[in-house]
Amino acid sequence: MRLKNAVVIGGSIAGMLSARVLADRFESVTIVETDKLPLKPEIRKGAPQSVQPHILLTGGYQILEKLFPEISSQ
Ligand SMILES: Cc1cc2nc3c(=O)[nH]c(=O)nc-3n(C[C@H](O)[C@H](O)[C@H](O)COP(=O)(O)OP(=O)(O)OC[C@H]3O[C@@H](n4cnc5c(N)ncnc54)[C@H](O)[C@@H]3O)c2cc1C
Repeated sequence: MRLKNAVVIGGSIAGMLSARVLADRFESVTIVETDKLPLKPEIRKGAPQSVQPHILLTGGYQILEKLFPEISSQ
């Protein structure tokens, strides 16, 4: 049985991934994000650490591939 609605506060990496996992269990998932999300990757006010270089480790990438199989072709 699917539950009704889940709410995730914050639409950055943790919020987006949480929403993806919750979508398997809930009929709808609402992400509440205070910042305006850009259409392409860019530095934004809500994630000031995005000015710093980030590294994605292999384990994290493998999880992303499981959740978003199309990510390799992006
Ligand atoms: C210098 C530096 C280097 C780093 N390097 C790495 C690295 O190499 N590899 C790595 O894995 N991690 C790295 N990190 C850590 C990484 O940046 C954070 O762990 C990650 O960004 C946290 O993601 P998050 O989604 O939890 O939070 P954030 O990315 O901080 O997102 C929080 C979101 O919540 C939103 N928000 C805030 N308040 C509200 C509100 N009241 N209502 C609604 N929305 C709200 C914000 O706008 C934002 O979109 C680094 C961090 C720093 C500072």
